[in-house]
Amino acid sequence: MEVGFLGLGIMGKAMSMNLLKNGFKVTVWNRTLSKCDELVEHGASVCESPAEVIKKCKYTIAMLSDPCAALSICEGKGYIDMSTVDAETSLKINEAITGKGGRFVEGPVSGSKKPAEDGQLIILAAGDKALFEESIPAFDVLGKRSFYLGQVGNGAKMKLIVNMIMGSMMNAFSEGLVLADKSGLSSDTLLDILDLGAMTNPMFKGKGPSMNKSSYPPAFPLKHQQKDMRLALALGDENAVSMPVAAAANEAFKKARSLGLGDLDFSAVIEAVKFSRE
Ligand code: NAP
Repeated sequence: MEVGFLGLGIMGKAMSMNLLKNGFKVTVWNRTLSKCDELVEHGASVCESPAEVIKKCKYTIAMLSDPCAALSICEGKGYIDMSTVDAETSLKINEAITGKGGRFVEGPVSGSKKPAEDGQLIILAAGDKALFEESIPAFDVLGKRSFYLGQVGNGAKMKLIVNMIMGSMMNAFSEGLVLADKSGLSSDTLLDILDLGAMTNPMFKGKGPSMNKSSYPPAFPLKHQQKDMRLALALGDENAVSMPVAAAANEAFKKARSLGLGDLDFSAVIEAVKFSRE
């Protein structure tokens, strides 16, 4: 199967590499073209514009930063946008694609850099059912499970809800780690205790030790997590759902961005918690 891939950031690079390793023919494009070099070394072809990729490939996957970036590119015959955007953006992309006779699936993913490298993402797809079915060989390489959620917008909404919960959890976790430390307790011992109980989860387990060392190598950039909180809160507005926990978490992510932490991992939000206590 031949696929085009637009956007080689943290996720796009890992995902396109995975497709290559699994025998797909991959043609890549990235705004900063030099980021294509590593993929080319592993057998990818490169094009100088999204339009060139789309002309060449029956199926094109996009993995771009935000609604603005996703909207700036959308075109194609069989177009699968896996970026995290809001439902409104996804509907606009759908309109742009189908208006030119193409087919569209939105397929945002749950899972970060490591699951992307290991082909263990969770794909939250919606849109053209036939295109979804044709995309399953690629989705099976990229993810451990693919959900088909119906009409365009449903994948985007589900993804935002998942990330809203994650962002709120990360804030409660950060507050707990800082509170343990300020109370004279070991935040490493807190991690051990959490890990033995009902709240154990891969996120606390994976991020906790490095957070206790104030180390935040970006797997999921904080600026993207804040974008997702913002979009999830807008979904809450639309549906008149009161979300004070998520709203407070969003403020902490905004604070962290204002401290210049946007390109670090979203776990760096703990620095905003520390800052507010100083
Ligand atoms: P990233 O490392 O920041 O990469 C962003 C990509 O978007 C880069 O390829 C960047 O190109 C491109 N881009 C940004 N603005 C653009 C524009 N105006 N026109 C064209 N291309 C543009 O982000 P990421 O972590 O891979 O995330 C990508 C998407 O997946 C986001 O929607 C994010 O919310 C979502 N996501 C991320 C994770 C994660 O854990 N990282 C997990 C699930 C979902 P340049 O290289 O030229 O800057």
